Amino acid sequence: MEDKITLILATTNKGKTAEIQEMLKGFPVDIKDLQQFGMLPDVEEDGKTFEENAYKKASFFSKILGFPAMADDSGLCVEALGGEPGIYSARYAGDQASDTEKYQKILAEMKNKDNRKAYFQCNISIAVPTGSAISYEGRCDGIISEKAFGSAGFGYDPIFFYPSANKTFGQMISAEKGKVSHRGLALAEVCNEFDKIIIWIKQQMPVFKRVQSPVKCVL
Ligand code: IMP
Repeated sequence: MEDKITLILATTNKGKTAEIQEMLKGFPVDIKDLQQFGMLPDVEEDGKTFEENAYKKASFFSKILGFPAMADDSGLCVEALGGEPGIYSARYAGDQASDTEKYQKILAEMKNKDNRKAYFQCNISIAVPTGSAISYEGRCDGIISEKAFGSAGFGYDPIFFYPSANKTFGQMISAEKGKVSHRGLALAEVCNEFDKIIIWIKQQMPVFKRVQSPVKCVL
């Protein structure tokens, strides 16, 4: 039987854990999320890019827990707003703002704007305790709608119109969104390469061997 590796998912979001567990179920990997470790310190997401933030989370939890860790960071970038909300997507309308308040803020800022191009980006980082990491990226292009449509998904989904499906992410069931979304594309790449990722992780992880003392201890 092949040895399973342990992979920490640097998230407390049960939905993300379930989605990733399902995608990697054929591989010799034991997936644990942060909820299985009780109280843990927080990592500051103060990177300048999605990639930096994903790496910060993955390497931080890999270092403190001693296992390889995978993290993602994602958000919405709107061309006419100079790429905003970008890495600030989660707290764009303030710390306590609801998803509706967040997308209403974008709709207000986009009022009368002709250029409505936008994209979602997701970066995934897989890091080991030494700090080495590999990263993946997924991007999904779309249009900011004039008003919200649908109530599926989360975040900015109701205002993100995906032209080839002729509807917003808020009008898609999750399997449909997962095939084309930024996170779905990045995860699909991880999944396609996961056999190589396992080999990389095994090469990177320190192996601790018990050393037999040459000196006999007589009690
Ligand atoms: P996170 O990287 O999953 O924490 O996402 C950061 C923020 O970006 C979320 O709080 C959402 O506001 C936004 N976001 C990321 N992915 C999506 C998506 O698939 N749909 C809608 N909003 C998203």
